[in-house]
Amino acid sequence: MTDRQREPIGGLAAVFAHPDDESFTAAGALALAHDAGRTVRLLLLTRGEAGNPERSPDLDLADTREEEMRCAAAKIGMDEVTVVDHPDGRLSEVPFSTLVDEIALWLADRRPDAVITFGAHGVTNDADHVVVGAATRWAVERLAESGIAPHAVYVVAPVFGPGHRSYDLSPEEGAASHRIEITEVAGRKLAALACHVSQTDVAEEIAELRAALDRDGVVYEGYTRVRPTVPAARPTFYSRLV
Ligand SMILES: [Zn+2]
Repeated sequence: MTDRQREPIGGLAAVFAHPDDESFTAAGALALAHDAGRTVRLLLLTRGEAGNPERSPDLDLADTREEEMRCAAAKIGMDEVTVVDHPDGRLSEVPFSTLVDEIALWLADRRPDAVITFGAHGVTNDADHVVVGAATRWAVERLAESGIAPHAVYVVAPVFGPGHRSYDLSPEEGAASHRIEITEVAGRKLAALACHVSQTDVAEEIAELRAALDRDGVVYEGYTRVRPTVPAARPTFYSRLV
């Protein structure tokens, strides 16, 4: 998606469920990795056709949301985006082994150094988020058996400022091991979020991010490193993921 020569293997990959997950969660870390010269890729498992208040499938909405996501990917500096057309809101009905196979194959072809996905509660308890996070971690374990596991797997672990919404986070999501300062790319995260015009909750997220910038002058994304499963030797706050 850019003219820059891509690393054929390596870099940072994100595996999520819906168009807009990339912007809400990891736009900052992905943009920083891009700026550091790393190849940044995204795998989404649905086209988001049920992203309306009724949660009813709408194929026109799927087209719209895929376009919105490609707009966001360009703001972030994503090198490659892959979208699989599984049913939005019903990922748990797809055989789990199918999802694991697809994610493992995608990762095996690209061999990213690090992978971002959702943790055990998927931040918002969205069932698709939970499934994609679990399937990605199973896929990584399968790659490990073949000796090609990524060096690191991170789950989204939101760092909340005062006034932020809070969620029912799992322990791994509630205690970020990596707090990434994304202030220098906050404008691009805001621009990526703004691409998702069809999503009503985007405005609130943009307002919260702007408020945090105005109040603190600094904003973060949080991640917990879940693979390798041993703790880091020292605190790694304020570092990049790759
Ligand atoms: Zn989502």
